[in-house]
Amino acid sequence: MNGTVYKSTGSWYTVKSSDGEFYECRIKGKFRTQGIKSTNPVAVGDVVEFHLENIGDETIGVISEIGERKNYIVRRSVKLSKQTHIIASNLDQVFLLVTLNNPPTFTSFIDRFLVTAEAYDIPVILLFNKMDSYSEEEKFEVHWLMDLYSKIGYKCIPIEAKQGKNVDKVKELMLGNTSMFAGHSGVGKSTLVNALETGLELKTAEISEQHMQGQHTTTFAEMYDLSFDARIIDTPGIKGFGIVDMDKYEIGDYFPEFFELKSDCKFNNCLHLDEPKCAVKEALENDEVAASRYRSYVQMVTGDEDNPYRER
Ligand code: GDP
Ligand code: ZN
Repeated sequence: MNGTVYKSTGSWYTVKSSDGEFYECRIKGKFRTQGIKSTNPVAVGDVVEFHLENIGDETIGVISEIGERKNYIVRRSVKLSKQTHIIASNLDQVFLLVTLNNPPTFTSFIDRFLVTAEAYDIPVILLFNKMDSYSEEEKFEVHWLMDLYSKIGYKCIPIEAKQGKNVDKVKELMLGNTSMFAGHSGVGKSTLVNALETGLELKTAEISEQHMQGQHTTTFAEMYDLSFDARIIDTPGIKGFGIVDMDKYEIGDYFPEFFELKSDCKFNNCLHLDEPKCAVKEALENDEVAASRYRSYVQMVTGDEDNPYRER
Protein backbone atom coordinates (compact mmCIF):
# COMPACT_ATOMS: atom_id res chain seq x y z
CA MET A 1 0.00 0.00 0.00
CA ASN A 2 1.08 3.57 -0.31
CA GLY A 3 0.13 6.62 1.63
CA THR A 4 1.18 9.97 3.03
CA VAL A 5 2.55 10.63 6.51
CA TYR A 6 0.24 12.97 8.42
CA LYS A 7 1.79 12.79 11.85
CA SER A 8 4.92 11.55 13.53
CA THR A 9 5.86 11.05 17.16
CA GLY A 10 9.36 9.91 16.35
CA SER A 11 8.53 6.24 16.71
CA TRP A 12 4.97 6.03 15.34
CA TYR A 13 3.79 7.46 12.07
CA THR A 14 0.19 8.11 11.13
CA VAL A 15 -0.17 7.33 7.46
CA LYS A 16 -3.18 8.08 5.31
CA SER A 17 -3.41 5.45 2.63
CA SER A 18 -4.44 6.24 -0.92
CA ASP A 19 -7.89 4.77 -0.11
CA GLY A 20 -8.37 7.37 2.64
CA GLU A 21 -7.86 5.19 5.73
CA PHE A 22 -5.45 6.12 8.51
CA TYR A 23 -2.90 3.56 9.75
CA GLU A 24 -0.49 3.67 12.67
CA CYS A 25 2.87 2.63 11.27
CA ARG A 26 6.38 1.93 12.44
CA ILE A 27 9.61 1.59 10.57
CA LYS A 28 11.50 -1.62 10.79
CA GLY A 29 15.01 -2.47 9.79
CA LYS A 30 16.97 -0.42 7.35
CA PHE A 31 15.56 1.14 4.26
CA ARG A 32 16.78 3.60 1.72
CA THR A 33 16.71 7.07 3.23
CA GLN A 34 17.00 10.23 1.20
CA GLY A 35 20.41 11.88 0.74
CA ILE A 36 20.17 14.03 3.87
CA LYS A 37 21.29 12.84 7.32
CA SER A 38 18.55 13.61 9.79
CA THR A 39 17.42 12.52 13.23
CA ASN A 40 14.14 11.36 11.71
CA PRO A 41 14.16 9.09 8.68
CA VAL A 42 10.47 9.66 7.95
CA ALA A 43 8.85 13.10 7.99
CA VAL A 44 5.34 14.52 7.77
CA GLY A 45 4.47 14.88 4.10
CA ASP A 46 6.51 11.88 3.01
CA VAL A 47 4.92 9.51 0.55
CA VAL A 48 5.60 6.01 1.84
CA GLU A 49 5.18 2.39 0.90
CA PHE A 50 3.85 0.23 3.76
CA HIS A 51 2.28 -3.13 4.51
CA LEU A 52 0.29 -4.54 7.43
CA GLU A 53 1.77 -7.00 9.88
CA ASN A 54 0.19 -8.89 12.73
CA ILE A 55 2.11 -8.55 15.96
CA GLY A 56 0.41 -10.58 18.66
CA ASP A 57 -3.24 -9.72 18.26
CA GLU A 58 -2.43 -6.27 16.89
CA THR A 59 -2.19 -5.22 13.28
CA ILE A 60 0.28 -2.46 12.56
CA GLY A 61 1.62 -0.82 9.45
CA VAL A 62 5.27 -1.22 8.59
CA ILE A 63 6.89 1.39 6.38
CA SER A 64 9.32 -0.10 3.91
CA GLU A 65 10.14 2.74 1.56
CA ILE A 66 9.98 6.52 1.21
CA GLY A 67 9.20 8.15 -2.07
CA GLU A 68 11.51 10.81 -3.39
CA ARG A 69 10.89 14.17 -1.70
CA LYS A 70 10.21 17.06 -4.01
CA ASN A 71 11.32 19.38 -1.20
CA TYR A 72 11.65 19.49 2.57
CA ILE A 73 12.32 21.90 5.39
CA VAL A 74 14.59 21.27 8.34
CA ARG A 75 15.20 22.48 11.84
CA ARG A 76 18.55 22.36 13.52
CA SER A 77 18.63 21.17 17.05
CA VAL A 78 20.21 23.79 19.29
CA LYS A 79 21.65 21.25 21.68
CA LEU A 80 22.93 18.85 19.07
CA SER A 81 24.07 21.48 16.64
CA LYS A 82 25.03 19.06 13.92
CA GLN A 83 21.74 17.20 13.97
CA THR A 84 19.15 18.03 11.40
CA HIS A 85 15.49 17.33 11.89
CA ILE A 86 13.23 17.25 8.85
CA ILE A 87 10.08 19.13 9.82
CA ALA A 88 8.05 18.41 6.73
CA SER A 89 8.31 17.45 3.09
CA ASN A 90 6.49 17.77 -0.20
CA LEU A 91 5.05 21.21 0.39
CA ASP A 92 3.29 22.86 -2.53
CA GLN A 93 3.66 26.34 -1.10
CA VAL A 94 4.27 28.47 1.95
CA PHE A 95 2.31 31.61 2.71
CA LEU A 96 4.50 34.15 4.44
CA LEU A 97 2.43 36.67 6.35
CA VAL A 98 3.95 40.11 6.51
CA THR A 99 2.88 43.12 8.55
CA LEU A 100 4.46 46.54 8.37
CA ASN A 101 4.00 47.03 12.09
CA ASN A 102 2.45 45.23 15.08
CA PRO A 103 4.76 43.39 14.64
CA PRO A 104 7.18 44.89 12.11
CA THR A 105 8.43 42.51 9.43
CA PHE A 106 11.74 43.75 8.08
CA THR A 107 12.81 43.19 4.50
CA SER A 108 15.93 41.46 5.82
CA PHE A 109 13.66 38.81 7.36
CA ILE A 110 11.53 38.48 4.22
CA ASP A 111 14.61 38.14 2.02
CA ARG A 112 16.29 35.59 4.24
CA PHE A 113 13.07 33.60 4.25
CA LEU A 114 12.79 33.78 0.46
CA VAL A 115 16.40 32.74 -0.05
CA THR A 116 15.94 29.72 2.18
CA ALA A 117 12.72 28.80 0.39
CA GLU A 118 14.47 29.11 -2.98
CA ALA A 119 17.20 26.83 -1.68
CA TYR A 120 14.58 24.33 -0.52
CA ASP A 121 12.64 24.70 -3.76
CA ILE A 122 9.43 25.79 -2.08
CA PRO A 123 7.19 28.42 -3.69
CA VAL A 124 6.37 31.35 -1.40
CA ILE A 125 3.35 33.61 -1.57
CA LEU A 126 3.54 36.88 0.35
CA LEU A 127 0.43 37.92 2.23
CA PHE A 128 0.48 41.52 3.40
CA ASN A 129 -1.89 41.43 6.34
CA LYS A 130 -3.65 44.06 8.46
CA MET A 131 -4.17 46.37 5.47
CA ASP A 132 -7.02 48.01 7.43
CA SER A 133 -4.63 49.24 10.11
CA TYR A 134 -2.20 51.26 7.99
CA SER A 135 -1.97 55.00 7.46
CA GLU A 136 -1.88 56.32 3.89
CA GLU A 137 1.88 56.52 4.10
CA GLU A 138 2.16 52.95 5.33
CA LYS A 139 -0.21 51.74 2.63
CA PHE A 140 2.07 53.37 0.11
CA GLU A 141 5.00 51.49 1.60
CA VAL A 142 3.14 48.19 1.43
CA HIS A 143 2.29 48.75 -2.21
CA TRP A 144 5.89 49.62 -2.88
CA LEU A 145 6.92 46.30 -1.29
CA MET A 146 4.29 44.34 -3.20
CA ASP A 147 5.50 45.93 -6.40
CA LEU A 148 9.10 45.05 -5.58
CA TYR A 149 8.41 41.41 -4.77
CA SER A 150 5.93 40.83 -7.63
CA LYS A 151 8.52 42.09 -10.10
CA ILE A 152 10.96 39.47 -8.84
CA GLY A 153 8.30 36.82 -9.34
CA TYR A 154 6.64 36.35 -5.95
CA LYS A 155 2.88 36.48 -5.79
CA CYS A 156 1.73 39.17 -3.35
CA ILE A 157 -1.75 39.56 -1.92
CA PRO A 158 -2.92 42.36 0.40
CA ILE A 159 -5.31 40.89 2.97
CA GLU A 160 -7.29 41.70 6.09
CA ALA A 161 -7.49 38.40 7.90
CA LYS A 162 -9.64 39.82 10.69
CA GLN A 163 -12.24 41.18 8.28
CA GLY A 164 -11.88 38.26 5.90
CA LYS A 165 -10.84 40.52 3.04
CA ASN A 166 -9.15 38.71 0.12
CA VAL A 167 -9.21 35.52 2.13
CA ASP A 168 -11.04 33.89 -0.82
CA LYS A 169 -7.96 34.53 -2.96
CA VAL A 170 -5.82 32.66 -0.46
CA LYS A 171 -8.33 29.83 -0.37
CA GLU A 172 -8.30 29.54 -4.15
CA LEU A 173 -4.53 29.10 -4.15
CA MET A 174 -4.82 26.44 -1.45
CA LEU A 175 -7.21 24.21 -3.39
CA GLY A 176 -5.71 20.82 -4.10
CA ASN A 177 -2.46 21.80 -2.39
CA THR A 178 -0.47 21.26 0.79
CA SER A 179 0.35 24.63 2.34
CA MET A 180 2.05 26.05 5.34
CA PHE A 181 1.68 29.45 7.02
CA ALA A 182 4.70 31.31 8.33
CA GLY A 183 5.55 34.72 9.70
CA HIS A 184 6.37 36.41 12.97
CA SER A 185 4.21 35.79 16.00
CA GLY A 186 1.28 38.21 15.89
CA VAL A 187 1.10 38.75 12.11
CA GLY A 188 -2.28 37.00 12.00
CA LYS A 189 -1.67 33.38 11.05
CA SER A 190 -4.31 31.96 13.41
CA THR A 191 -6.76 34.68 12.47
CA LEU A 192 -6.30 33.86 8.79
CA VAL A 193 -6.71 30.14 9.28
CA ASN A 194 -9.92 30.84 11.21
CA ALA A 195 -11.18 33.14 8.46
CA LEU A 196 -10.49 30.43 5.90
CA GLU A 197 -13.03 28.24 7.69
CA THR A 198 -10.69 25.30 7.58
CA GLY A 199 -12.15 23.65 10.64
CA LEU A 200 -8.65 23.80 12.14
CA GLU A 201 -7.05 25.68 14.98
CA LEU A 202 -3.37 26.40 14.55
CA LYS A 203 -0.81 25.45 17.14
CA THR A 204 1.61 28.10 15.96
CA ALA A 205 0.62 30.94 18.25
CA GLU A 206 1.04 29.13 21.55
CA ILE A 207 4.57 27.94 21.20
CA SER A 208 6.25 30.46 18.94
CA GLU A 209 7.27 32.83 21.72
CA GLN A 210 9.08 30.06 23.48
CA HIS A 211 10.79 29.06 20.31
CA MET A 212 11.86 32.60 19.58
CA GLN A 213 13.87 32.55 22.78
CA GLY A 214 15.83 29.72 21.32
CA GLN A 215 14.65 27.00 23.68
CA HIS A 216 14.58 23.91 21.65
CA THR A 217 11.63 21.75 22.33
CA THR A 218 11.15 18.71 20.22
CA THR A 219 8.17 19.70 18.20
CA PHE A 220 6.51 17.74 15.49
CA ALA A 221 4.65 18.96 12.52
CA GLU A 222 1.26 17.59 11.66
CA MET A 223 -0.72 17.57 8.46
CA TYR A 224 -4.46 18.21 8.40
CA ASP A 225 -7.14 17.70 5.80
CA LEU A 226 -9.29 20.81 5.73
CA SER A 227 -13.02 21.20 5.30
CA PHE A 228 -12.30 21.98 1.63
CA ASP A 229 -9.91 20.18 -0.73
CA ALA A 230 -6.64 21.30 0.80
CA ARG A 231 -4.10 20.34 3.42
CA ILE A 232 -2.18 22.39 5.94
CA ILE A 233 1.04 21.41 7.61
CA ASP A 234 1.02 22.95 11.04
CA THR A 235 4.17 23.19 13.04
CA PRO A 236 4.48 24.84 16.41
CA GLY A 237 6.76 27.82 16.50
CA ILE A 238 7.65 28.19 12.88
CA LYS A 239 8.45 31.74 11.93
CA GLY A 240 11.19 31.07 9.48
CA PHE A 241 12.86 28.01 8.13
CA GLY A 242 15.90 26.43 9.71
CA ILE A 243 19.06 28.00 8.45
CA VAL A 244 20.75 25.90 5.86
CA ASP A 245 24.49 26.00 5.51
CA MET A 246 24.98 27.95 2.36
CA ASP A 247 28.14 28.57 0.50
CA LYS A 248 28.57 32.32 0.01
CA TYR A 249 28.89 31.75 -3.74
CA GLU A 250 25.54 29.99 -3.70
CA ILE A 251 23.49 32.76 -2.09
CA GLY A 252 23.26 34.87 -5.26
CA ASP A 253 21.61 31.94 -7.02
CA TYR A 254 18.62 32.37 -4.73
CA PHE A 255 18.03 36.00 -5.68
CA PRO A 256 15.93 35.52 -8.84
CA GLU A 257 16.56 39.09 -10.04
CA PHE A 258 20.33 38.44 -10.10
CA PHE A 259 19.89 35.50 -12.39
CA GLU A 260 19.89 37.27 -15.75
CA LEU A 261 22.58 39.70 -14.62
CA LYS A 262 25.22 37.29 -13.36
CA SER A 263 26.44 36.27 -16.79
CA ASP A 264 27.28 39.92 -17.50
CA CYS A 265 29.61 40.28 -14.52
CA LYS A 266 33.26 40.49 -15.56
CA PHE A 267 34.26 37.64 -13.26
CA ASN A 268 32.27 34.47 -13.36
CA ASN A 269 32.90 33.94 -9.65
CA CYS A 270 31.74 37.50 -8.92
CA LEU A 271 30.26 37.90 -5.43
CA HIS A 272 28.80 41.27 -6.46
CA LEU A 273 30.58 43.05 -3.62
CA ASP A 274 33.57 45.13 -4.67
CA GLU A 275 34.52 43.42 -7.92
CA PRO A 276 34.95 45.67 -10.97
CA LYS A 277 32.40 45.58 -13.79
CA CYS A 278 29.75 43.84 -11.75
CA ALA A 279 26.38 43.75 -13.53
CA VAL A 280 24.48 43.39 -10.26
CA LYS A 281 26.01 46.56 -8.80
CA GLU A 282 25.36 48.37 -12.05
CA ALA A 283 21.73 47.29 -11.89
CA LEU A 284 21.63 48.47 -8.28
CA GLU A 285 22.86 51.91 -9.33
CA ASN A 286 20.21 52.03 -12.05
CA ASP A 287 17.52 51.06 -9.55
CA GLU A 288 16.88 47.82 -11.40
CA VAL A 289 17.85 45.88 -8.29
CA ALA A 290 16.21 47.15 -5.09
CA ALA A 291 18.58 48.58 -2.49
CA SER A 292 16.83 46.62 0.26
CA ARG A 293 17.36 43.36 -1.62
CA TYR A 294 21.01 44.11 -2.24
CA ARG A 295 21.44 45.03 1.42
CA SER A 296 19.95 41.69 2.45
CA TYR A 297 22.22 39.93 0.00
CA VAL A 298 25.36 41.56 1.39
CA GLN A 299 24.23 40.78 4.90
CA MET A 300 23.86 37.12 4.03
CA VAL A 301 27.11 36.85 2.09
CA THR A 302 29.33 38.71 4.51
CA GLY A 303 27.47 37.72 7.64
CA ASP A 304 28.72 41.10 8.75
CA GLU A 305 26.31 42.99 10.93
CA ASP A 306 28.25 46.22 10.39
CA ASN A 307 28.23 46.19 6.62
CA PRO A 308 27.24 49.57 5.15
CA TYR A 309 24.17 48.11 3.47
CA ARG A 310 22.74 46.79 6.69
CA GLU A 311 19.22 47.73 7.66
CA ARG A 312 19.12 49.86 10.79
P1 GDP B 1 -0.39 34.75 14.92
O1 GDP B 1 0.50 34.84 16.12
O2 GDP B 1 0.38 34.97 13.67
O3 GDP B 1 -1.23 33.54 14.87
O4 GDP B 1 -1.37 36.04 15.01
P2 GDP B 1 -2.91 36.10 15.49
O5 GDP B 1 -3.79 35.48 14.47
O6 GDP B 1 -2.99 35.61 16.88
O7 GDP B 1 -3.16 37.67 15.43
C1 GDP B 1 -2.49 38.60 16.25
C2 GDP B 1 -3.34 39.84 16.42
O8 GDP B 1 -3.50 40.51 15.17
C3 GDP B 1 -4.75 39.54 16.91
O9 GDP B 1 -5.10 40.49 17.90
C4 GDP B 1 -5.61 39.68 15.67
O10 GDP B 1 -6.94 40.07 15.97
C5 GDP B 1 -4.87 40.77 14.92
N1 GDP B 1 -5.15 40.73 13.47
C6 GDP B 1 -5.11 39.65 12.66
N2 GDP B 1 -5.46 39.99 11.40
C7 GDP B 1 -5.72 41.32 11.41
C8 GDP B 1 -6.15 42.26 10.41
O11 GDP B 1 -6.35 41.95 9.24
N3 GDP B 1 -6.27 43.55 10.82
C9 GDP B 1 -6.05 43.95 12.09
N4 GDP B 1 -6.22 45.23 12.39
N5 GDP B 1 -5.68 43.09 13.05
C10 GDP B 1 -5.52 41.79 12.73
ZN1 ZN C 1 28.74 40.71 -9.99
